[in-house]
Amino acid sequence: MLINIDHYKLLKDLLTKNQVTLVAVSKIQSIEKIKALYDLGERNFGENYVQELCSKQQELQDLEINWHFIGHLQSNKVKYIAPFIHLIQSVDSLKLLKEINKEAKKNSRIINCLLQVYIAKEETKFGLDENELAEILNFKEQGNLENIEIKGLMGMASFVDDENIVKSEFNYLQSIFNQNPQFEILSMGMSGDYELAISCGSNMVRIGSSIFGARKL
Ligand SMILES: *Cc1c(COP(=O)(O)O)cnc(C)c1O
Repeated sequence: MLINIDHYKLLKDLLTKNQVTLVAVSKIQSIEKIKALYDLGERNFGENYVQELCSKQQELQDLEINWHFIGHLQSNKVKYIAPFIHLIQSVDSLKLLKEINKEAKKNSRIINCLLQVYIAKEETKFGLDENELAEILNFKEQGNLENIEIKGLMGMASFVDDENIVKSEFNYLQSIFNQNPQFEILSMGMSGDYELAISCGSNMVRIGSSIFGARKL
């Protein structure tokens, strides 16, 4: 089973035109597929599981890949990805951010992070509410977390067919993004909803299955 090259090229054209960055979500996909996409020029790859990410990173360490972490991250696993991670998109607590800061310091790095905001009305999703977000930004403004750079926001919309619901969730995240002019990255949109996300101001999309094919669990 090969990657969907035609779709990738069309997608890449569309994103470039709109100045949107692609993160190719390679969770549960093979090393061969990652290499195939890398050979087409892709450099940003996203993973959800620490162990899987670390073994892929090790195997592909001669390649110039920017690894993005996009899954739920437990504090006790930060140490494994801190030496190499390019962007942690799924920061959902101050406790986690403090741990990332500590491990960044140990590795003499600044680690780029996005704050994941809870925008879907689904219990299974993670993310900060507006109060928690304000608390974190406030804490950072006071001069803490010096080894962290907060680059922006990430959000996942509800998995529903009703475009109006998804759109209102994206609009909500965009409004928070616009209230914080220091932010650069607004990461929203996946295979099923990236066009809508871009129309709502997204400048980074995380796309897996439409490039790599369905994930076999
Ligand atoms: C799996 C995943 C994606 C990609 O989903 P697709 O529907 O395969 O494009 C994007 N973002 C997050 C946070 C994910 O877990």
